Amino acid sequence: MTKKATPPKLVSRPKTAAERAARLRKILKLLDEMYPNVKVPLVHRNPWELLVATILSAQCTDKRVNEVTPGLFRKYPSMSDFARANQAELAQDVRSTGFFNNKSKALIGAAQKILTAYHGQVPRSMQELLGVPGAARKTANVVLGGAYGIMEGVVVDTHVQRLSQRLDLSKHQQPVRIEQDLMKIIPKEKWFIFPLQLIHHGRALCPARKPKCAECKLDPICYAKDKSLIL
Ligand code: SF4
Repeated sequence: MTKKATPPKLVSRPKTAAERAARLRKILKLLDEMYPNVKVPLVHRNPWELLVATILSAQCTDKRVNEVTPGLFRKYPSMSDFARANQAELAQDVRSTGFFNNKSKALIGAAQKILTAYHGQVPRSMQELLGVPGAARKTANVVLGGAYGIMEGVVVDTHVQRLSQRLDLSKHQQPVRIEQDLMKIIPKEKWFIFPLQLIHHGRALCPARKPKCAECKLDPICYAKDKSLIL
């Protein structure tokens, strides 16, 4: 006989700073238990490949990007190959990731900029990366954390945006404001792993529609308005 799951709980908000801090520690601990060994899901062998894959991942699934990049890196094995690529041809090569004209321009621009300004080394600071075509804060955070273990900020994608609100870690909607809120409350050593854990959790149990609250370990401390209270 299959065991029946417990219905999700209605939970009250913490009232004091101490209660909020204790709740945050609990969230971090439970995420560590649920997602102990999370890694960047974009397949890459070096910082340049991670930058390329991250640029391609805008408005596209990681799965699709991982289908495209092996062939792409066979055809354009080095940064120089991207720098001198024919843009129309590269656009077709990345067509299935969407926004292919913009992405192909960004990849060529990024390769040219890094070759001329940084001797072919993907930069290691947020400020420098933000000057590379195609790299906004999210891209820079992925590359800095994933390729170099450098934490200058917190990746905020659509999952982190949604879960930060459901878990009451930010009241804001704009990624840049959410990132600022998270940087204030999440310990710096977790700035890279924490958003990866939220992304995994968003995909596994807490999607935009019909979160699986009855299966979620965060249920006892989650008071999101849109919890699924029905099994
Ligand atoms: S699955 Fe439900 S309980 Fe878990 S974090 Fe999402 S909304 Fe909260």
